Amino acid sequence: MANDKTTDDSAQGDSNDANTRVQELIKYVKIKAKPVELTGEIKIPKIKPNSFIDVKPQLLTALEPLERLGYPVGGLVPNWKEVFLKKMDEILKKYRSVKLFLNICVRCGACTDKCHYFIGTADPNNMPVARAELMRKVYRRYFTWQGKLLGSKYVNGSDLSEELLAMWYTYFYQCSECRRCSVFCPYGIDTAEITMAAREILNSVGLVQKYVHEIIDKAQNIGNNLGMQKNAIINALEFVQDELQETTEIPDIRVPIDEEGADVLFVTPSADFFASPHIESLYGYAKVFHQAGISWTMSTHASEGGNFGLFIHNYGHMKKINKRIWEAARQLKVKRVIGGECGHMWRVLSSYSNTMFGPFDWLDSRFPRPQHICEFTLDLLKRGALKIDKTANDEFVVTMHDSCQVARGLEMGGTKYGQFEIPRGVIRGVCNRYEDMPDNTIKERTFCCGAGQGLLGDDMIATRVKGAIPRMQAYSYAKREKGVNFLALICAICKAQLSKMFPTYGIPMEEVGGIHQLVGRAIVLGAKEGI
Ligand code: SF4
Ligand code: SF4
Ligand code: SF4
Repeated sequence: MANDKTTDDSAQGDSNDANTRVQELIKYVKIKAKPVELTGEIKIPKIKPNSFIDVKPQLLTALEPLERLGYPVGGLVPNWKEVFLKKMDEILKKYRSVKLFLNICVRCGACTDKCHYFIGTADPNNMPVARAELMRKVYRRYFTWQGKLLGSKYVNGSDLSEELLAMWYTYFYQCSECRRCSVFCPYGIDTAEITMAAREILNSVGLVQKYVHEIIDKAQNIGNNLGMQKNAIINALEFVQDELQETTEIPDIRVPIDEEGADVLFVTPSADFFASPHIESLYGYAKVFHQAGISWTMSTHASEGGNFGLFIHNYGHMKKINKRIWEAARQLKVKRVIGGECGHMWRVLSSYSNTMFGPFDWLDSRFPRPQHICEFTLDLLKRGALKIDKTANDEFVVTMHDSCQVARGLEMGGTKYGQFEIPRGVIRGVCNRYEDMPDNTIKERTFCCGAGQGLLGDDMIATRVKGAIPRMQAYSYAKREKGVNFLALICAICKAQLSKMFPTYGIPMEEVGGIHQLVGRAIVLGAKEGI
C-alpha cells in the first residue's frame, strides 16, 4: 500500500475545486472523425501526439443509477487520492496477473503498432505499451519501495494529479479490451486486464462512464440491456414468432418463452429481439431448433446474453448479470444451456461461469457447460439432421469477422481452435462460397470492430470511426481481390458497430449479418429428419 505521506498530500487541496477541474478536463466534447479512403492496405501511421486527447466518453452523473450501483455520486470524491490508492492496492492483491503485467514489460515495442486505435488515430498514447504505462507510472511511484522512498522522479513514475486522472479516463476508454496486443507480446502481457483494472479504479473515485453503467444498471436490475420489462419481452418474442409463422407458412414454428421442462435454455443478446441485422439471426436460431425437433425455451428472467460487467473488471456486476442465466436454467429445469451470437456472453459463460457461482452441475452430463449456438448447429449439420439448400446463399461470397471475445477467449466445443473452425464450419455448411480476409486480420490476430467494451455509445463515434479502420481495410481487400460481399459475425456489438461503419465507409450495411442469418436462409423447413 502507498505510504501515508503521499495520500494526504497538500496538493489534494479543496475537493470541490478538484472535482470542478477534473470535470472540466474530462468534459465530453462532440468530435467528428472522417473515414479514410479504403485502399485495402493497413498502414502503420506516423505518430501524431495527442491527436485523440479530446475524445472522451460521457460521465454518468444521474443520482439514481449511481446510487443503485453503489458508486459515489456527485463526481470526484473529496479524498480521491486515498480512495484511488486503496482500490489499486486491493486490485494488485486480488488480481496477481495485473501486478505481474505491470512488473514484467521490457518495452520491446512488439505491441506498439498492433492496436486498431493506434493504427486509426496515430495517437501514441494508444500504443498498448503507452496505455499500460499510465498505470505503471503510478505503480512505480506508490507501490515499489524505490518509488515510496525516492519519489516519482527517480523511478520514472507519476504522482497522482487531476491531469493524470484525465489521461487515465481518456485513454483507458480508447481501449476495447480486445487483447490483440497480448497475442504479439513475448511475455503475454494483457493490456485489456490493465484497462479493466484502471476503469474499476476510476469508478471508485467517482468517474463513472454513462453508457456502460446505465446498461449495467438495466441488465442487473431489470434483466436486459434495453430495460425491457417482462410483458415487453413477451410481446417482442411473440411478434418474432408471428413473423416466422407468416413468412415460413409453418404454423407450429415457435419462439417458446418460460417453458418449464424444455431441453434447452437459449439465451441471446436482447438486441436480437428487434434490430437488424440481429433479429435475422433469431429467426435462424428458431428455425434450427424447430427443424432439429429439440424443445427449447427463452427466459424472461435471463433475457440478456451480453454482460457489460466484464467491461470494467467488476465481478460483482458480472456475477449478478450472469447469475440470471444460471437461475433461469434451474427454475426451468432444462438439461442444456445454449448461448446465441454474442462475444461478451460467450467469454463470461465459457470462461467465468463455473467459478463465479458454482457449476451448472445438474445439466445433462453430455453437455455440462453452456454451449455456443455454432457448436450446436455444426453438430446438427455434420449429422445430417438439417436439410440445407446452400444455393439460397449463392448471391453471397461470405467472409467472417472473428469477434475478439470469442477468438481470444476459451476454445469452443472443447476443441483446439474450435472458436475459429466451428463458426467457419457452420458458414461452409450453409454457403457455397467462403473466403477469409488476410491472415494477419483474422483468428487469434483478428482486429476489433472498434466499438467493444463500452465504446459503442454515440459519444465515442470518433473513436469508433478510427478504430474500425483495420477491419474496414481488410474487408475492402477481400471485396476487391476475392469478390466478398457479406461479412458474417457472432457478436452483437460487432454487428451494431459494423452495420454503422459500413455505410460510413461507403459499403452497404446489408453486407453485415449474423452467421445464423445465413443458416436461416439456407435451412429447408418441413418434414423433420429428427436427430
Ligand atoms: S510487447 Fe509486451 S513486453 Fe513488449 S512493450 Fe509491449 S507489453 Fe511490453
Ligand atoms: S487490448 Fe486491444 S484496444 Fe486495448 S490496447 Fe490492446 S490492442 Fe488496443
Ligand atoms: S465488439 Fe466484437 S470485435 Fe469488438 S471487442 Fe467485442 S467481441 Fe471484439
